[in-house]
Amino acid sequence: MSDPKPLRLLLVEDEPIQRRVLQRQLRNAGYLVETAQNGDEALAKILADPCSILLTDWDMPGMDGATLCRRVREANLSGYLYILLLTGHDSAADIVVGLEAGADDYIRKPANEAELLARLKAGRRIVELTRQVQLLSVTDSLVGTYNRRYLTDQLGLEIERARRYGRPLAVLIADLDHFKRINDEHGHLTGDEVLQGFAERVRTSIRQNDWIARYGGEEFVVVLPDTNLAAAVATAEKIRLRCASAQMATTTGALVVTASFGVAALECLSVTETATVATLLHRADVALYRSKNAGRNRVTAVEVASAVDL
Ligand SMILES: [Mg+2]
Repeated sequence: MSDPKPLRLLLVEDEPIQRRVLQRQLRNAGYLVETAQNGDEALAKILADPCSILLTDWDMPGMDGATLCRRVREANLSGYLYILLLTGHDSAADIVVGLEAGADDYIRKPANEAELLARLKAGRRIVELTRQVQLLSVTDSLVGTYNRRYLTDQLGLEIERARRYGRPLAVLIADLDHFKRINDEHGHLTGDEVLQGFAERVRTSIRQNDWIARYGGEEFVVVLPDTNLAAAVATAEKIRLRCASAQMATTTGALVVTASFGVAALECLSVTETATVATLLHRADVALYRSKNAGRNRVTAVEVASAVDL
């Protein structure tokens, strides 16, 4: 699985002519090239918006390349940044220093163009491999949505972001109705197809910034950033209708599959209540329970007025 998208590369070189020459070579090779003149400028750019590959000179005024490597590794970026160090230091001891500082590879200056591009290609393979591993670790292997681990981590970040910028945030929990019966009557393979079909219906019903995770068994959570309770209820209702109004094709025949929903939003939490992944999901879960008790195939929102009692 190769990535057809061009990779973003940050080129750090203090010599203007060198920088221009390298920049042209890298652009011609298909990289999206950004530049910095020294380690300080590069580090600021990486922390603000990390790229995939860092090609950095060693000797520069201010922060040098080896220090930049160390600082980047200390920053614990969420994605892997591949670092290729350009160096005039070519004693074995210097190379050890560069690699121990966090560089993945090095190339001697002046860099031969073919060798540089070949080394970057090797770096690209590492970048793509780490992306695949990262994606697998947050994906539910059966339905292809995010998994519970991702939900817990990412929803925590979404809550922080919403709180910091005073933005709304909503979640909905969806639970397939009578799923055990589907498994019992049609077999587990059909049950799996139903889970996949449901995830697909949700994916095609939500906006670009909304996302879905499998919470467990036949339970899914949809996270809706910048969305208040009323809008989230409308989204849940749209998904509910899409399920209830059209049969789902499976290898053992077409089935009507319905789901029950519980919806909660940050605005539902009382002032004394800390907004956490657990409190928000618990609220949605209480609402879901009401949908189930009221006969399933319905949407229930958290009652804002009851927030203090719960
Ligand atoms: Mg230099």
